[in-house]
Amino acid sequence: MIKDVFLKLRERLTVTAALELMEATAGRKVSRLGFSENHIPWLDELISQLGAYWVPAYAPFQHTPDLGKGEWASLADQNSQLQSTKKSWQIFISNSLERACSARDMESRNDERTFGASLGIPKCCIDFYLRERERARSSQNDFTLLSASETGISMGLPIWTNTLTQYFGTTLLSFAPCSYQCEAAIRYARERYAFALEIDVEMAKSLVTQQKTGGFYTEFEGVHLFRLLRYDGEKFEIESDSLKSTIPGGSLNVKLAQTRYIHAGGTSGLIELEGQSGHLESLAMEQSIFFDFSQES
Ligand SMILES: [Zn+2]
Repeated sequence: MIKDVFLKLRERLTVTAALELMEATAGRKVSRLGFSENHIPWLDELISQLGAYWVPAYAPFQHTPDLGKGEWASLADQNSQLQSTKKSWQIFISNSLERACSARDMESRNDERTFGASLGIPKCCIDFYLRERERARSSQNDFTLLSASETGISMGLPIWTNTLTQYFGTTLLSFAPCSYQCEAAIRYARERYAFALEIDVEMAKSLVTQQKTGGFYTEFEGVHLFRLLRYDGEKFEIESDSLKSTIPGGSLNVKLAQTRYIHAGGTSGLIELEGQSGHLESLAMEQSIFFDFSQES
């Protein structure tokens, strides 16, 4: 029955959103998800089947996809009342009606610490969010570069905190980690994986496989993921045909599709792409970073 509901949720939601919702109905946390009005009757039926509750926020929100991140949006404007007939709503979901209402009220009175804790976010990551949110706002409200800056390194990172997969709907985190090496965030991701295993072993395993990637994050020219085969201390070999981009056909996507090795490492921060013929091209892009999420332990 649980797996059937999960599969029904997957017809309209990403893996991450479906898991997030099911964790809330199982009482592990409260979840807040955004839905267009026309999905609400469908959602209501599935949440009822799981014996759980949902409440809408006090006002609809404006959905504005980030530039270069596919359909992914990080910013929900709580105050913008929409005139269109199909509004989007933030929905609070829990196995307890009281907890769902309480989370909604905490958010509306800007009680960020208690609200974040009710969503299961570790304290260190809530502190990071509160400390950095103004800076994030100036850059599409995306925390990726800020989390990377706190981490200090971008290679050999744990697969568990890979947030680049969020742009493709499969991350194990529902918040920006205070560092890609944050122990509490790693624990959160591992617990979500354990929960996913109880629903569907195949789905859970493929979720973790997808976390083990290299990636190019750029603020405006797309997020690009690829599988890294090996690193010889100087360059990574990219598995051909493994490239996924939020801007397919964009200039960086085209360049990476022709790339066989990525030269990264050392302290220069310089990234070079090497094609099949050995031709090297240096990449100097503002607000961009190359990541290697490869540590499974
Ligand atoms: Zn943290």
